[in-house]
Parts: sequence; structure tokens; C-alpha cells
Amino acid sequence: MADLDPSKKVADRYLKREVLGEGTYGVVYKAIDTQTGQTVAIKKIRLGKQKEGVNFTALREIKLLKELKDSNIIELIDAFPHKGNLHLVFEFMETDLEAVIRDRNIFLSPADIKSYLQMTLKGLAYCHKKWVLHRDMKPNNLLIGSNGQLKLADFGLARIFGSPDRRFTHQVFARWYRAPELLFGTKQYGSAVDVWAAACIFAELLLRRPFLQGSSDIDQLGKIFAAFGTPTPSQWPDMLYLPDYVEFQYVPAPPLRSLFPMASDDTLDLLSKMFAYDPKSRITIQQALEHRYFTSAPLPTDPSKLPRPTSKREPTNSNSRVLDLNSNDGPTVLSPPRKSRRVMPDREAFEGNAYRADRLDDHVNEVRELAAGNTSKNEAAPMSLDFSVFGGKPPNRPTINSADRSHLKRKLDLEFQQ
Ligand code: ADP
Repeated sequence: MADLDPSKKVADRYLKREVLGEGTYGVVYKAIDTQTGQTVAIKKIRLGKQKEGVNFTALREIKLLKELKDSNIIELIDAFPHKGNLHLVFEFMETDLEAVIRDRNIFLSPADIKSYLQMTLKGLAYCHKKWVLHRDMKPNNLLIGSNGQLKLADFGLARIFGSPDRRFTHQVFARWYRAPELLFGTKQYGSAVDVWAAACIFAELLLRRPFLQGSSDIDQLGKIFAAFGTPTPSQWPDMLYLPDYVEFQYVPAPPLRSLFPMASDDTLDLLSKMFAYDPKSRITIQQALEHRYFTSAPLPTDPSKLPRPTSKREPTNSNSRVLDLNSNDGPTVLSPPRKSRRVMPDREAFEGNAYRADRLDDHVNEVRELAAGNTSKNEAAPMSLDFSVFGGKPPNRPTINSADRSHLKRKLDLEFQQ
């Protein structure tokens, strides 16, 4: 049987099957775990040329990820080096939330949306309790199993390997899901960045298209301010002291209902709290889970009854007639970037794990220092985009460049064999 071809075996245990896709960190392929018979997904992370030996911090962090076990977090089953690449073995998942959102054959009821959001927040709550930030929340990182269970994937990978084109550690997250404090260059951020991204995903579930599709960081801020009004210093006092703060023309907030005409009052209330400008006043994941939105009717759909796509690649065709923020430019920038203003806001004031996030950024920098050179790749525009609102021309998807992650390798085998 072709399947038993030993050349297809990885690490004497996993039988390689088809390629599932190419992601930020490298190729992902399906495989069978010959020890358990389980189908798995193996993420092959290119390590490139190793210059300075292993980065033990990265290895420690991978071991930490192996400890994260929750029904809403994808399980990292195994991690091993093989032929110069690092292989991360995850449980196999059938589809992802982006495929659900873009599938026009699927009707998502308010109860279905509540269920998908609740599972997303439960996964995040577990990780925040363990002082781990996701930092790369987006619908295609929310994988869905055959039983309808949604699980957060790529947890902590942004922290360990960096986002490929990042020279600065605040450039985590695909741009459309990035919190305003990150866009203004904050170096001290906490779990509130994941809350903002979860809010963008909530909005995307409601609209069935990405909510704020900025084509640059400034454009992203403009789109955010067009949606929620330009923040005032009294609303967000620390804003003025952020490293990349720029002053935008003042525009008032349109009524939130004009953006989400079909949403319930509870939905709008929770959304507005998750989209609070000041990270200190933004609701926490735990508080969001306790919001009345989740206990008021309709109750969240049981995961096994959630609609799932028949095909992963459905064209989109939105007919929603809501205020479209992506077709206008939002408020204009009034002041040039004040790179020279580097007043650090009060560390204590940031949410609980800001300090840890900050320390971990140092780890990312360590990893990055070991990297040599950058190659780049543009992410394809997601199928969930409603191109019709752009007059037929797809907008530029914020790009994530693929980078040389030439760390680890030399002593990797040693570490993992320990
Ligand atoms: P990205 O870096 O863009 O988030 P990934 O590296 O996570 O992408 O994934 C690349 C492809 O592999 C995607 O099509 C994704 O759906 C698929 N994939 C990733 N992890 C799994 C998994 N555990 N089970 C099934 N498919 C997966």
C-alpha cells in the first residue's frame, strides 16, 4: 500500500498525506499518527540557516503551549525537528470560521453567532488566565472540528516566531483586527488587544464581511475612527503619549445601529464595550462572557447543531445595505507622526498581563536577532470579502510577509529529545 511507503513517514511516527495549505509559518499537511490512528495536521516551520545556535526561549515557549489544554484551544500534540524544519503536530480540524462566514449558503442565526463568539471568548479566557496572549486573532485562526467545536489555533506562535515581517513587536495581528493602541505603536499592551480582535470577529460574524478593512495602519485608524468617532483625550488619556500617535480630524461617531442594523440591543452593548478605545476601560474577556448577551434569548446554539460549510471555497455576495466604512476614507490626519514623543504611559494601568507581554516581546526580539534576511509573501485576499462594495476591485488585504525564522535548529534535536 502506497501509504506505507516509509519515505512518507515523518519522525517514524506520522504518515504524510495531502498538503492542507500554506500559512504564515510554512506548509501545513494532513498526516496519520501511526501510534494512535488519529488524523493530525502538521505545521512545518522553516528554520533556515542557523547562525548562533538554538533559542532556548522559543523552545521553552513551545513546551508551554503544549501545556495549554482546553476544549476551545487546538491541542499541540507533539513538536519535533525533522530535516531542518520544526514540525508542530496539531489535532486535525475540518474547517474554520472564515469558511463559515464566507459561505453564502449558510444562514447564521443570532443564536449561531452567539455560539461561535462564546467558544472564541472561552478559548481566549483560558489563555488569558494562563497569562498567554494570542496576538493573531482572525477568523481563519479559529478552527472548527467535526463536532462543531471551535478552537483557537496558532496560539502564541506570533509571540514565539514573530509575524514574519515584523520589525517592531507592536505589529502583531493582521491589520484589520489590530487594536488602536497597537496601531499607535504601544509597546506595553495586554489582553485588551485580543478583546479588540475578538470584537472585529464578532462584527464580521454579524456583517458577513471583514468590518474595518484598512489598507495601511493610518487608513486602519481612519476606518476605526469613522466607525466609532475620533477618540478624545478625555475618552482615552494615554493616547496622546503613544509613540506613533498622530492627531486625526475630529469626526463624531455615527449611531452603532447604523453599522449593525439587524443587531439586538444586547449585541450592540457588548460590541461597544469590546470596542472601547482606552484599553484600560475595554471589557475583559471574562466580563464579556458574563455579559447578558450570552444569557438572554436566544441562547447560544449547541455546537453540534451549528451550520458548517459544504465547500471551503464559496464566492461571496453580500447584499447588506449597511453603512459601509470601507468605501470612505474616514477622518484625515492633522499632525505628522510625533516619533519624538515617547512618554511611557503608566505600566500598572494596563491590564494584568501587560508586563508579561512586554517581557515576551523581548523573547521575540531575541528570536528575531537570530533571523537572517527576509523573504516576503502576500496573503491572498480572503474569499469572505464582499468585492461588490469596492466597485469590483478587491482591496489590498493587509499583508503578512513570510520571514526567515532561522533560529533554533542546531541544538533543537537535543532539547526535544530531553
Ligand atoms: P495562517 O498562518 O495563514 O493562519 P496556517 O498556517 O494556520 O495559516 O494554516 C494553513 C492552512 O492549513 C489553512 O488552510 C488552514 O485551514 C490549514 N490548517 C491549519 N491548521 C490546521 C488543523 N489543525 N487542521 C486542519 N487544517 C489546518
